Amino acid sequence: MSDRLQDPILNLKQTVLDFALKMSRSGMAPATWGNVSAIDRERGVVAITPSGMAYESLSPEDICLIDIQGNSIDKKWKPSTETPLHLVFYRNRPDIGAVVHTHSVYATAFASVGREIPVLIATLASGVGGRVPVAAYQPSGTEEFGTAALSAMGDRTAVLLANHGVVAVGKDLNDAYTVAELVENAAKIAILAWIIGEPAELPQEEVSRLRRKYLTKYGQKG
Ligand code: 13P
Ligand code: ZN
Repeated sequence: MSDRLQDPILNLKQTVLDFALKMSRSGMAPATWGNVSAIDRERGVVAITPSGMAYESLSPEDICLIDIQGNSIDKKWKPSTETPLHLVFYRNRPDIGAVVHTHSVYATAFASVGREIPVLIATLASGVGGRVPVAAYQPSGTEEFGTAALSAMGDRTAVLLANHGVVAVGKDLNDAYTVAELVENAAKIAILAWIIGEPAELPQEEVSRLRRKYLTKYGQKG
């Protein structure tokens, strides 16, 4: 068995790095912005990207390990400045196992005008469960930034941060990253649809049906 599989913490750090690299290469976060984390609830630890470091330069050991209060465990690098935001989600939502924060362009355009992303396409209904709401502006890096995001998100899986970016959550990193991709895709389609015509938003009943179906039957489930 490889070292990575034998060491659950190194495995968690490697997964965080894999998704941080994916985010960076996809263009959903410019330069060193955006951040990615995942929690191991059994061990009470969170692996989170270090602040302001180029993702391409990182190895799994560079991913920071902190406790749920935000105390550094490995003390190698300073964790993301958005650590309070990530921790607010882990402390208040036991169903959340991973958080992805992006500055993806089309979704951030919505965030910059304070407009929710409408449910024009089925994938947004499936992955997010409704419109992507907007959290009121708060200075980034603060606890208030996190609590505003948490309360605006409600029962959805994503929220826009006014004049800043996106937070996507999931049971694991694969889930949270998929949500971030679906949000960006929906924002892009909405803007294009408004340019070429007058798109109709899906009715609430259909949004709920699509969400239920996604949670119970999509992929290899059910
Ligand atoms: P960090 O590099 O500290 O994670 O900050 C990036 C960011 O997106 C701040 O909102
Ligand atoms: Zn940010």
